[in-house]
Amino acid sequence: MAQYSEAIQRLIEQLTRLPGIGTRTAERLALHLVNHPEQARQLADSVRQVGEQIRRCRRCYNLTESHDLCGICADAGRDQRLLCVVEQPRDLVAIESAGVYRGLYHVLGGRIAPLDGVGPEALTIEALVRRVRTERPREVIIATSPTTEGDTTAAYLVQLLEPCGVHLTRLARGVVPGSTLEIATPEMLASAIRDRRAIESVSAAGGKKKRDAGGEETGGSL
Ligand SMILES: [Zn+2]
Repeated sequence: MAQYSEAIQRLIEQLTRLPGIGTRTAERLALHLVNHPEQARQLADSVRQVGEQIRRCRRCYNLTESHDLCGICADAGRDQRLLCVVEQPRDLVAIESAGVYRGLYHVLGGRIAPLDGVGPEALTIEALVRRVRTERPREVIIATSPTTEGDTTAAYLVQLLEPCGVHLTRLARGVVPGSTLEIATPEMLASAIRDRRAIESVSAAGGKKKRDAGGEETGGSL
């Protein structure tokens, strides 16, 4: 691509750093922006605003433009004693769009993935345990993705949260195993939340195995 000017070349390189964008797509996008300068300006403004104005909520780590709490944490009408733990802000958005959950959230910022070098310390797990100890929710719904890594993360959370004496539940397996919450339909997520299952205690399950494999229905209210 030596034939492009330095500025276009730089743009192409920046675009290829985005997830799912290869060199050819980046080249096409860059040339499109060159041909549509007004659109390029609007895109640049949006990118700058995201970089400068978006923060993490200090309570739940959701994305927000507020300096303090996000809109969900600041909403006194939501159930303050119901906590749903998700991996990413997009999972929170997916659950919100299901329209049946009216509690609070805690965003982990990912899931434990040893092969990718993501350990528990890279996530907001410590802050979650602190929250559960101080806010004393009556129920914590663990809504990590139905993947191996999501299950590993859930098992790790159970180990840490169980001694806090909180009622722990997991989404029902309405969501297709191996998928992520964001691609589940709102209807699937709604029933996965309604049919959530109590997680058996470590001692009752006789060890670590199959802690999330069943349990009685919670019948908890949303
Ligand atoms: Zn928040």
